[in-house]
Amino acid sequence: SFTPAARVARIKPSPSVAAAARAKELRAAGADLVDMTVGEPDFDTPDAVKEVGIAAIRDGDTKYTPVNGTPALRKAIRARMLDRAGVSYGDDQISVGGGAKQVIFLALMASVDDEAEVIIPAPYWVSYPDMVLANEGLPVIVECPESAGFKLTPEALESAITTKTRWLILNAPSNPTGAAYSEAELAALAAVLDRHPHVWILTDEIYDEIWFEAGRVPSIVKVAPHLADRTFVVNGVSKSYAMTGWRIGYGVGPAPLVGAINKLQSQMSSCPASMSQAAAAAAMAGDQSFIAETVAVYKQRRDIAVAAINKIDGLSCATPSGAFYLYPNCAGVIGKTTPEGTRIENDLDFVLYLLDRGVAAIHGAAYGLSPHFRISTATSTDLVEEACRRIAAAVAALH
Ligand code: PLP
Repeated sequence: SFTPAARVARIKPSPSVAAAARAKELRAAGADLVDMTVGEPDFDTPDAVKEVGIAAIRDGDTKYTPVNGTPALRKAIRARMLDRAGVSYGDDQISVGGGAKQVIFLALMASVDDEAEVIIPAPYWVSYPDMVLANEGLPVIVECPESAGFKLTPEALESAITTKTRWLILNAPSNPTGAAYSEAELAALAAVLDRHPHVWILTDEIYDEIWFEAGRVPSIVKVAPHLADRTFVVNGVSKSYAMTGWRIGYGVGPAPLVGAINKLQSQMSSCPASMSQAAAAAAMAGDQSFIAETVAVYKQRRDIAVAAINKIDGLSCATPSGAFYLYPNCAGVIGKTTPEGTRIENDLDFVLYLLDRGVAAIHGAAYGLSPHFRISTATSTDLVEEACRRIAAAVAALH
């Protein structure tokens, strides 16, 4: 019989991937289900980008590339970072991988061992704690309640730091809340980090283009450029350009860290797919109108869903500043009883009840902060409206 390695026994499969798979199964079996678990844009990859990928295959761009990506992809990454953060990154400061997910995993693998601590503000993207555990690190979860805007405060950061802290992970706009830090809030976190030079910052900015407020979402490298020599910025094309299946992500940061990541990558997959790199470079360097068009749609769905959920007695929903998720509070339904006689004890019970009522969502405990649930608005506007109607009817049926 097979016994997995300890690093595998310590982790669990991604709950959002599992919930999405279960929703797909139920629908395939004929269930009338609105799937609000999806973590990817419902839009198709822009045609012009697809054409570049197809042309790359036709033109024989079908071979290994340098570990740190093709010159065209690196050029696009460098230009984007200069534009967004005002920092000029050299070729030895760039890593590319099969999605931001692989880049984050490699960054942790390259830097964490022996129970090094990684501070993860909750609610968090489900993968961070398991990635830390898989790499022999210790996730240090810091709850950031709704009353604090789901954001890490300087005080909470200060008290979470120990001599064993290796990383602070920031993710804004956040999956699952859509919250983001203002420049002043980032400056206040940076002031704490100034006192602890051994703590590095991993900033996951994968949703930075999906932003509903004025200007651009603030980034810590821009606000605190003096931290650049211990900040690793992660991004990719999955969410901004509806390219989840192409699997291209990147990370930029200090050369010694990136060198370690690229050494691992050279032994792990050599490089991500060459034709995907061609398409990603074209997406980043080409016409950007796709972003404005899709963000306008996400924003409209956000407004519809936030208003609909806030009308439901027992639920409340903060307005996300970015990304395509809502993270409503369901404290008001805990302790109630379903028409079938089941008492709702926690947010998992609530999402299981919603599943019976035709809506698939993900419970807040999976993201480390209860009682909440996550719904995605990366589905058609009609389905967002239908899901809200079903949630309202489900909650009204509780007593
Ligand atoms: N980071 C966050 C916060 C995410 O939500 C996701 C995808 O769900 C990723 C990273 C991974 O994106 P990619 O498709 O580039 O691996």
